[in-house]
Amino acid sequence: YRAKGQPTRTAFYDQALEAALSRRQDLLMALSRALAEGELLLHFQPIVDLEGQQPVAYEALEALVRWPGGPATAAFIPLAEETGLVKELDRYVLPRVAALAQGRTLSVNLSVQSLTDAGFVAFLAGLPNRGNIVLEITERVLAYPETFAALQEVAALGFRLALDDFGSGYSSLGYLARMPFYALKVDRLFTQGIGENPRAEAVLRVVRDLARNLGLAVVVEGVETQAQRAWLLAEGFAWGQGFLFGRPAPMESFGGEG
Ligand code: C2E
Ligand code: MG
Ligand code: MG
Ligand code: MG
Repeated sequence: YRAKGQPTRTAFYDQALEAALSRRQDLLMALSRALAEGELLLHFQPIVDLEGQQPVAYEALEALVRWPGGPATAAFIPLAEETGLVKELDRYVLPRVAALAQGRTLSVNLSVQSLTDAGFVAFLAGLPNRGNIVLEITERVLAYPETFAALQEVAALGFRLALDDFGSGYSSLGYLARMPFYALKVDRLFTQGIGENPRAEAVLRVVRDLARNLGLAVVVEGVETQAQRAWLLAEGFAWGQGFLFGRPAPMESFGGEG
């Protein structure tokens, strides 16, 4: 019981919750419209040979979606993932990347949800330049055994598969050994620990050895300093990605036609 006329705590929280939900709803509607209107753009970030001195000498470019006038990618992707709208985003991004993958290797992020979507493998089968495309899937995919058959089919279509953000969350090493992955991308959490945190360095060495034993390529994400690059080279890592080598930028800055 409480005094009459006094606003209740529940009412206060309900209002805050309602406001948050409607912001979320507005954002999703705006994203949906931006997809329909073709407003989202692709930027690209190089994946480089750590030994190469020139930042322009890249092995591949990773496509990263950008929403002009909208929130940052890292802010809207999780929401799109929660609600399934990310499947539409994937169907928007993939054909655009595939068209640009003529004569160059492009990497593109793919949501776990798309892999469980009926018809998605057929959609992928219709894309050109499949042998030049690396599909990056976060390691969370290892928590969804129902996607494994689709992964096998996708690999059989000629796509290469990379496990993204490796080490950041749930990883089933048992599953990893059975999946048709081509590369591991080590989360930048560990890169940040180089020279600072011996445990992060220990994890990097273990991942390097694991990948070597499984015959997988390793790309270290988030390389920002020459000191990190030097450590990685000394430890036998071959590939890296990060602001030190290049920030995500439009295709024109890599000599392509966008
Ligand atoms: P990701 O695939 O792991 O991409 C790497 C993220 O780290 C990118 O953020 C990139 O801009 C950022 N990054 C690269 N190098 C550095 C560095 O040296 N330091 C720091 N601090 N950050 C660095 P971005 O573009 O905000 O993308 C965030 C995530 O959103 C991506 O992580 C990926 O999981 C997802 N994503 C981006 N584009 C797409 C897309 O087209 N489709 C799908 N499904 N997901 C996407
Ligand atoms: Mg990625
Ligand atoms: Mg990543
Ligand atoms: Mg990431």
